[in-house]
Amino acid sequence: MKRWQCKHGHLLGVIVESGAGVSQLFVLRHAVDGEAEAPAEVDVMLGPVVGNMQVRCELCGEMKPWRVSVNALIYLVESLDTGLVYQFWNRLLERAKK
Ligand SMILES: [Zn+2]
Repeated sequence: MKRWQCKHGHLLGVIVESGAGVSQLFVLRHAVDGEAEAPAEVDVMLGPVVGNMQVRCELCGEMKPWRVSVNALIYLVESLDTGLVYQFWNRLLERAKK
């Protein structure tokens, strides 16, 4: 578990490595001030984040972007129902034709 923090060191979330090089972000309900390790009882508001997202630090107002990785996208798609992936893939192909 890695810390995900703003420029001022406020803890905004934690990054969990779920194997195969997939980094998943869990956003905390409240930003945490201080250098302490991520508390064991972190209050997670959202996660894992599967798209691109701006997270605002409630302590200093900084906006920090999270960008989903290719590995995380593949991991997400692989976890889905085959029929859903088929529809998704067809939709992408239709769009590419336009
Ligand atoms: Zn901050």
